[in-house]
Amino acid sequence: MTGADAGADGLLETSVPGVYAAGAVPSGSIKRCATAVGEGAIVVRFVHERLSAAPAQPSR
Ligand SMILES: Cc1cc2nc3c(=O)[nH]c(=O)nc-3n(C[C@H](O)[C@H](O)[C@H](O)COP(=O)(O)OP(=O)(O)OC[C@H]3O[C@@H](n4cnc5c(N)ncnc54)[C@H](O)[C@@H]3O)c2cc1C
Repeated sequence: MTGADAGADGLLETSVPGVYAAGAVPSGSIKRCATAVGEGAIVVRFVHERLSAAPAQPSR
């Protein structure tokens, strides 16, 4: 499950914060190629936004 159904804040986000599901995997997916491609593209954007908002990791 993703989004509100998973208790997540973000669209396509799973119950694990920062982990997303797209395409055929999410519960209730309509299972069409174009949808899978579009959701994948959206999720890439979400991951970039999340990484840019995350605090920088200390260098080793
Ligand atoms: C018989 C059939 C006919 C279809 N016809 C149409 C159609 O005409 N038009 C249409 O739009 N949609 C059609 N679909 C639906 C479409 O195929 C799917 O919606 C789409 O492929 C979903 O894309 P996806 O990337 O989410 O998943 P997938 O295309 O299933 O890709 C998932 C990939 O992950 C790999 N994988 C799985 N587990 C692991 C693992 N543990 N480690 C590494 N890799 C893993 C799999 O091998 C696979 O390559 C059809 C589906 C089926 C089954």
